[in-house]
Amino acid sequence: MRTRTQVGIVGAGPAGLLLSHLLALRGIDSVLIEIRSREYCEARQRAGVLEDGSVALLREANLASRLDRQGLEHGGIYLQFDGQRRHIDFRELTGGRSVTVYAQTEVVKDLIARRIADSGRDAISFSVTETEVAELDTASPVLRYTDAAGTRHEVTCDAIAGCDGFHGICRPAIPAGVLTTWERDYPYAWLGILADVPPSTDELIYAHHCDGFALHSLRSPTVSRLYLQVDPDEVVANWPDERVWAELSRRFELPGWTLERGPVLDKSITPMRSFVSAPMRYGRLFLAGDAAHIVPPTGAKGLNLALADVAVLAPALDALLHGDEQPAAGYSATCLDRVWRSTHFSWWMTTMLHRTPGADEMTTQLQLSQLRYVTSSRAAATSLAENYTGWPPLSRLRSHADQDR
Ligand SMILES: Cc1cc2nc3c(=O)[nH]c(=O)nc-3n(C[C@H](O)[C@H](O)[C@H](O)COP(=O)(O)OP(=O)(O)OC[C@H]3O[C@@H](n4cnc5c(N)ncnc54)[C@H](O)[C@@H]3O)c2cc1C
Repeated sequence: MRTRTQVGIVGAGPAGLLLSHLLALRGIDSVLIEIRSREYCEARQRAGVLEDGSVALLREANLASRLDRQGLEHGGIYLQFDGQRRHIDFRELTGGRSVTVYAQTEVVKDLIARRIADSGRDAISFSVTETEVAELDTASPVLRYTDAAGTRHEVTCDAIAGCDGFHGICRPAIPAGVLTTWERDYPYAWLGILADVPPSTDELIYAHHCDGFALHSLRSPTVSRLYLQVDPDEVVANWPDERVWAELSRRFELPGWTLERGPVLDKSITPMRSFVSAPMRYGRLFLAGDAAHIVPPTGAKGLNLALADVAVLAPALDALLHGDEQPAAGYSATCLDRVWRSTHFSWWMTTMLHRTPGADEMTTQLQLSQLRYVTSSRAAATSLAENYTGWPPLSRLRSHADQDR
């Protein structure tokens, strides 16, 4: 079946879903395809921390009614090291900025529900196969896929947005030699659990421990999310629930404080990688989110970067479709500036808090010195707080993008 649309979007993660909504608000048609089922996308456990700029963006797009009711606003984090737990007060250090804990699963559910409410069940084609993008350097790039009923589609577009994550098809469709990539694999991974137990903390705890990093995060007043640093080749089967809780209790141990335990609802292992590819555009193909860059989750940046990219991309595509090339020409550079800041911050948090296998005692002492500095110097703490809550602020990025018009 041959059809036409203005923007073809590959991937219904946070980037693709939000882009299709932002384009619809501007009266722009899109076709959004996704290889997974709706149920799979809505259940996939990933990020959970939204910068205040991301929250403002979702509010502005009229997507925040559940987020405003259920999101948990946090004014800081705890850093634990050397037997002490110290608070970094974001609000005080940044003039009132904060983050909100609201799971990526909920962001995705809200976005899917909204697209379907606004544009009907066909707004998103789930469970498609044999996806292809072609003729990217022409004014009419083509998107091909087979839908869940087995019908083959060929959609001629004015532009294609590659929002298909790190393992998608869009970035590899760019001819060899166009992209420059930078990549770092870290020698550790995160074992993450979702637990049906109220959080034992009011704000996230990042713990440095001689046996490896641990993070106490949360999803709601009744559900906790906790992580342990493990070897990259570790498998979930080696970690029965009892072993996970015992190790978490050891790494978070502090006199007078108890880690509450509960049923484990989900358990998975995530590798840690930094990856940036540039430029984020080839002809009429625009990459957004994890399709163009990956950060280790320590800085809580992946989801926020994906939302920030499409906040810049939607007006750029709008201008392009009305004959103004300039914002689209500036898209990659505008986004990459923030991507590199987040990449550096995520690397900095990761290397300050994790135990590197084989590292000597001097490395540990350097990490502890950095942690003491961050928790005692206002300038160092402000730098952490600014980056964690989002730097440059998303509002600045969006007004910069508007000035390109
Ligand atoms: C296991 C894991 C844990 C994470 N934990 C955290 C965390 O704790 N904190 C944090 O900030 N970030 C975390 N992240 C990162 C964060 O979740 C991502 O940065 C975010 O999901 C990026 O959104 P996206 O829309 O760009 O990509 P994705 O969410 O990956 O969405 C891409 C979509 O494209 C689809 N797709 C792929 N190929 C095709 C194709 N050929 N055709 C059609 N569709 C396709 C995929 O199925 C997927 O639905 C985690 C990531 C992973 C993988």
